[in-house]
Amino acid sequence: MKNTIAFKTGRGNNYLYSPKMNRLMLAHPILAYLINLSGKGVDLKKWLASVKNNGLVLNDYGKVSKKKLLFYYQKYLLLQENGYFTAVDIKKKISGKLSAKDIEFQLANSYNVVFEVTDACNLGCEYCGYGKFYSDYDKRENKNLTAAAAKNLLNYLQTLWASPLNRSLNHKVNIGFYGGEPLLNLNFIKEIVDFAKNMPAPPHRFTFSMTTNGLLLLRDPGFLVENNFQVSVSLDGDEKNNAYRVYPSGKPAFKDILKSVNAFRERYPDFFKQNVNFIAVLHNKNSAADIHKFFKENFDKTPRISEVNLNGIVPERKEEFLKTYRNLYESLDQAEDYAVIEKDLYYLTPGYQVISEFLRQYSGYVFKDYRQLIQGKKDIVYTPTATCLPFSRKVFLTVNGKILPCERIGHKYGLGFAGENKVDLDFQKIADTYNSYYEKLRKQCGSCATVGNCQQCMFLLDMECPDPECRGHMDAGFFTKYISAAVSYLEKKPASYTKIMKEIIVE
Ligand code: SF4
Ligand code: SF4
Repeated sequence: MKNTIAFKTGRGNNYLYSPKMNRLMLAHPILAYLINLSGKGVDLKKWLASVKNNGLVLNDYGKVSKKKLLFYYQKYLLLQENGYFTAVDIKKKISGKLSAKDIEFQLANSYNVVFEVTDACNLGCEYCGYGKFYSDYDKRENKNLTAAAAKNLLNYLQTLWASPLNRSLNHKVNIGFYGGEPLLNLNFIKEIVDFAKNMPAPPHRFTFSMTTNGLLLLRDPGFLVENNFQVSVSLDGDEKNNAYRVYPSGKPAFKDILKSVNAFRERYPDFFKQNVNFIAVLHNKNSAADIHKFFKENFDKTPRISEVNLNGIVPERKEEFLKTYRNLYESLDQAEDYAVIEKDLYYLTPGYQVISEFLRQYSGYVFKDYRQLIQGKKDIVYTPTATCLPFSRKVFLTVNGKILPCERIGHKYGLGFAGENKVDLDFQKIADTYNSYYEKLRKQCGSCATVGNCQQCMFLLDMECPDPECRGHMDAGFFTKYISAAVSYLEKKPASYTKIMKEIIVE
């Protein structure tokens, strides 16, 4: 958004949003009227001179005297003097670029290293991100990641973690194990946990986590408990809801998974309570209400619910795939006992998600670091899109040795390599790659109303094509509706504001 907008909420209140100040403010209807006139190119000074002394009638306000109009004109001038109506220089705002130093800095402060332990799996779930519907991953060949490659990467990172570039010598580093089914390669996991625990000073406190389908939880459960693993088990609800979670032969796996999870729970009830959580995929064979009920009744837990991934679909299978898709917000909306579910799954409800994001981006009071807090955000130069800075959230190593910024993006976007003999991360090359992608999107972002507050990761677009199309692009009309809907929600449910501000931690 380049210029200030005035908008109305469901309750008929007027607000202003200034992109330059990144500030929202309640506006008197007369002030909003003047701003709208000025936005249409009217010279307010000349216009006011032409208004008769007995004033005029404003549609949704009524009679206004000239004296009152002049009073609000003074307010308008005050805001103008303080930069509220200054247009944003979008070209400058999104002119940011990355340098080799930025990449090195992010790696030195990385706090989440995830290993794709194996690409083999004992299940063949139909919607699997590495299955028939998707094409943006390396061929699955029942390969295991070698411990030597993983250790090389950890040693490489250790040098950076121990360097002056690291901002906090005591920060925790999580090591995650991902698959395929990671428990198929338990020896690798044990070797890496042992290696990490014996890494030299400075004394990083490693934590461990794993995403599993739960079938092999009993292989060596004591090991997970001893090392305080955070375990995420994928399960979609009851037997009917798990129709897509099947063995490669097509045989349903639900009963076996439940048996294994329950046996684990019986053996380690406290650990289960504290360290085990569930991830459920929403699709056309379950619903948010089914999922909520199943986990509440069976485990007294609230699972994380995600939709099937819409990125990287094989074009010929798109129609078939879309039959499995179900929208989370719609599913929540359709639940009979929405009020009960909303209480438990509050953080998944559409209202909460939109409003938290809205407050983070538009309240003007969320600061990324002390520099932003002290110097303000007005003159910050951004890189286009909302893509995280490389490795700022994760360092992901695939079975083929590719290093990626996370596991959610196509394997074609590998940024480096870690093998048995070397780690190859060319900081300049990574910076150049990101900068060339930014360049491809700069023009489109320049005409987008959410620029500066965007939520689109560029790796979820087709960045290899010369002119990638961004699905998140918003025009001014759409943006005005969005911002008005968000403030209307807050006016209707003011307690949400307090709940979000008190309970949400942005990391
Ligand atoms: S999806 Fe994009 S923005 Fe999100 S963690 Fe991965 S690379 Fe970063
Ligand atoms: S939504 Fe897309 S077009 Fe808009 S700023 Fe973000 S990346 Fe650019």
